[in-house]
Amino acid sequence: MVPVTHNLLSGSAVTHVEEVAARAGRTVAWPDWVHGDVLRAYTRIGISQPWEHQANAATMAHDGLHVVLATGTGSGKSLGYQLPALSRLRSDERATALYLSPTKALAADQLRAVAGLDLPGVRPAAYDGDTPRAEREWIRQHSRFVLTNPDMLHHAMLPGHTKWAAFLRRLAYVVVDECHAYRGVFGSHVAHVLRRLRRAAARYGASPTFVLASATSGDPADAAARLTGLDVHAVVDDASPRGAVTFALWEPPLSDDVPPVRSSALAETADLLAAFVRDDTRTLAFVRSRKAAELIASFARGRLDSMLPGLGRRVAAYRGGYLREDRRALEQALLSGELLGLASTNALELGVDLVGLDAVVMCGYPGTRASMWQQAGRAGRAGGDALVVLVARDDPLDMYVVHHPAALFGRPVEAAVLDPSNPYVLGPQLCCAAFEGPLTSSDLSLFGKGAVEAASALAASGALRKRPTGYYWTQRGTPDVDLRGTGGAPVSVVESATGKLLGTVDAGSAHAMLHPGAVHLHQGASFVVDELDLADAVALVHAADPTYSTHPRDITDVSVVSVRSYVDAGPIGLFLGDVDVTNQVVSFQRRRISTGEVIDTTPLDLPPRELRTVAVWYTISPRELSRAGVAPADIPGALHAAEHAAIGLLPLIATCDRWDIGGLSTANHPDTEAPTVFVYDGHPGGAGFAERAYAAAATWLTATRDAINACTCESGCPSCIQSPKCGNNNSPLDKPAAVTVLNAVLSHLPA
Ligand SMILES: [Zn+2]
Ligand SMILES: [Zn+2]
Repeated sequence: MVPVTHNLLSGSAVTHVEEVAARAGRTVAWPDWVHGDVLRAYTRIGISQPWEHQANAATMAHDGLHVVLATGTGSGKSLGYQLPALSRLRSDERATALYLSPTKALAADQLRAVAGLDLPGVRPAAYDGDTPRAEREWIRQHSRFVLTNPDMLHHAMLPGHTKWAAFLRRLAYVVVDECHAYRGVFGSHVAHVLRRLRRAAARYGASPTFVLASATSGDPADAAARLTGLDVHAVVDDASPRGAVTFALWEPPLSDDVPPVRSSALAETADLLAAFVRDDTRTLAFVRSRKAAELIASFARGRLDSMLPGLGRRVAAYRGGYLREDRRALEQALLSGELLGLASTNALELGVDLVGLDAVVMCGYPGTRASMWQQAGRAGRAGGDALVVLVARDDPLDMYVVHHPAALFGRPVEAAVLDPSNPYVLGPQLCCAAFEGPLTSSDLSLFGKGAVEAASALAASGALRKRPTGYYWTQRGTPDVDLRGTGGAPVSVVESATGKLLGTVDAGSAHAMLHPGAVHLHQGASFVVDELDLADAVALVHAADPTYSTHPRDITDVSVVSVRSYVDAGPIGLFLGDVDVTNQVVSFQRRRISTGEVIDTTPLDLPPRELRTVAVWYTISPRELSRAGVAPADIPGALHAAEHAAIGLLPLIATCDRWDIGGLSTANHPDTEAPTVFVYDGHPGGAGFAERAYAAAATWLTATRDAINACTCESGCPSCIQSPKCGNNNSPLDKPAAVTVLNAVLSHLPA
């Protein structure tokens, strides 16, 4: 098994090897309530007995308890909800079940699995944006196991609930798969979509049992309760067998050159992928960007073809922008062994079947321990041993974790954070609910804390009208509410010569990835962008084989639109207000692929992208900084470090997620004319986080200072001032000066 392991692990690039012990599985007898047909169907596909956690969760759900099953990747969570739902569908010819997943890929896998059981009368069907109009009516009338996603529920099924009346009336189970994906603003929206679903079901007389599946997490019962608004029981004791996993941390080596040059994480990952594939080891390489997935696949193919011509064909790239058929075909090829290596962007985009691989290589730390274990969980066939390699990128955060394994192993994963009472989510969601049917006072209690106040505010602003029978939606048409808050249509990538649609790129990344001159890779083949037509959301490309890669450079700016509120604390100012965050891709570099050498820099003429949002910011006078002992040269590093730590600590105050927030620090901002730290909501119109930060600024900044102080690292680490999402490669950062700045701010701010 994994014959290259021993050679690799003795190399100097390995900074730590963590052995995760094998675990024996515990099976139990099938619960006696399981329907005979269902039991036979599982037996037929080779499941002779359930694991203990599957049976426990299934029995709770059968008994009508809401349950969350939070166990590892590949522990068979789907049986936990399929057993009670399908048994019910077989024993009650009218009952229905609704399955929700965060991605279409996962729903497609589930559909395949449930359809494969071939149970009469269940008629499982996917109902999503790709479902042809002609099939929708049939699904509503006849399917008893509908697979969809929260977006479809929000945009189509709930507003059109009368068409779904027959389905909702008989709704026995709601399955929420991969529920840890619902976090931050998106998660808070989904929490209300689920409450709207409960209300719609109740309207027709149903009160379904919720079964949730989650990755292992800190407090799954609490997170599931917040997501659904229900009391949820957790099953967390994983009884599935696991092969031993060897988890290696990998620091790309320095060359013998003078001065030495560090090998790139991309090249190391491609080498590892090629070495594993050569040894017939089925391997998945995870990377952070689409571009890197394409490059790694292309590098690894080159390496393999030079060892044995034709071997390169066993490696491919996989990412979300590909067309659905291409993605399914790639997954099948890896499962069948036709492909041995795949470079992929995101664990969530992959199908659930894709576990039991021999090795996983991560090109860079994925940012959270939760994502790291999710990716690592793809490795390890039942009973077999597996290898996971985490390759550090040339970035202080990655370097820190490969030299501090205690930051990764033996610690619980981060809890997903969401806040349904966020007024910026609650208000729009109440409008959606009112559109679906007038909101009575008992409805408002379903929507939780703040709903009564939010409804009367909506009535005061004219969005809703209050009548004796409840709050009514007054506008024409449906409320325009975007669950993901990203905005903009995806850009289609089209080959000019053939008119072929190669794939799509989301609007937010189109400027960076599809600017004129950009090298666009698709399945290892290269294309160069000729034209980016923003009005029609199309990029025209031609096939080419350049020896360079392209690297966009962008500039982020914050400008103050208006101040809503401020605190004048002498040399310190604290502000809440509306800001425009501007991001502009201004130029790109061409770099030789072989050496990384910069060939040239080309300016670009792309319009800036603007985000109007809400920010909290503080200013500190230069004189106060010098009195505190911060030298002018240290100001940028001090403010930048204080900004990162404050963003990291904001979830304490605002129950948001650090990925929902952005920041900017500068030694002199044109609008404030002072050294300034901005922290802003990363969602159009704001999401309420900055507002809470402003209201609790002293508490927030005290916690920030204390966290930096308490960290035992010498000059900064991911636990204090480094950020996994920094646009400046975590540079400059000055840990002691950040503490000095925060002390100065706190000494003036009123408590
Ligand atoms: Zn630290
Ligand atoms: Zn930064």
